[in-house]
Amino acid sequence: MIPYMSELYYNPSSRYLQVNEITKKIGLEKARTLEYLNLVDEKSVCYTSGATESINLSIPVLAEMLKEKGSHILTAATEHKAMLDVMEILSKQGYDIEFIPVDAGGLVDPLELERKIRKDTILISIMYCNNETGVIQPIEKIGEIAKDKQIVFFSDVTQAFGKLSLNVAELGIDVLCFSAHKFHGPKGVGGLVCIIDSLSKKTGIQKKERLLQLISKAGTANVAGIIGLGKALEVSILEMDSNIGQITMLRDKFEDKILNNCLNVSVNGSTEKRIYNTTNLSFKGKDIEPIIDGYLGILVSNGSACNAFSEKSSHVLRAMGLSDEEANSSIRFSFSKYNTSEEVEKASDIIIKYFRNLG
Ligand code: PLP
Repeated sequence: MIPYMSELYYNPSSRYLQVNEITKKIGLEKARTLEYLNLVDEKSVCYTSGATESINLSIPVLAEMLKEKGSHILTAATEHKAMLDVMEILSKQGYDIEFIPVDAGGLVDPLELERKIRKDTILISIMYCNNETGVIQPIEKIGEIAKDKQIVFFSDVTQAFGKLSLNVAELGIDVLCFSAHKFHGPKGVGGLVCIIDSLSKKTGIQKKERLLQLISKAGTANVAGIIGLGKALEVSILEMDSNIGQITMLRDKFEDKILNNCLNVSVNGSTEKRIYNTTNLSFKGKDIEPIIDGYLGILVSNGSACNAFSEKSSHVLRAMGLSDEEANSSIRFSFSKYNTSEEVEKASDIIIKYFRNLG
């Protein structure tokens, strides 16, 4: 990133020829993102400040574009707050937002989703992987239904991007968003990708320019951020298989030790359909505040970062049937390639000791 903040500090929105080098590099990064997603159309990638901006940018335009077809939108109660906020705005504008319930494991039932599809359903938005529990939704099945019914399918793939292989064509996703910091890229940069061909078929909109409005964003590109995102993706792809093995081992070791040594602790969410870096544990009736606030030296969360200061308990856990009390005693632990076995040992010992002292 550093050269793009020093000797290559050109503004890609300018006309001078020195900019060509930057434009070419951004094009290569777009191609890398597309190759990872098994896509080809370079024009269909837009860099943003992250998944929140991607959602804010595309969902209202999609809704407006499809207004003549209907106003019914299907989503899940466990979506990220960024999505729920946009849905609330659309609801105030007269769109009919229906939330598909999830089961105790946090999973959407695709057949239930199919049953809820109406003639005026214009959009399905279901995230790939939940940021609080790590639960992976049956995206391929939902994509199939969306294709069959010709309904646009948006998926927030932020938690899976860079961590799992994503073959977007096979998954049947039409629009997706992601953030670089989820795969060790810089914070404040991310993207939005739309699959023009399938969108065109589903919406009946032939003009590519009109569909590209979905990802049109004015303003100067965050060049260094985009380069950093690309580098992080390059490394993530290279290391993906070994990361999956190592991080699964760390997460499982931690989870087993806590489950075997703490009383009244359980895992929130499906343990079968779950990404390898996350565990969400409920310590029923226990005060978890000192842990969340970092006083034990372990950096964890009890919800999404954007909700960190909210007084409310996790909307994700409540949608899965947990009481406020249960949700408020739950902690999300996530692990990365930078964690070690020793850290996992140390963190689990500290947590076990803390809860034993509480009695
Ligand atoms: N969606 C999901 C699933 C996330 O995990 C996050 C971030 O935690 C976001 C959206 C928002 O991303 P950002 O804060 O980078 O805009």
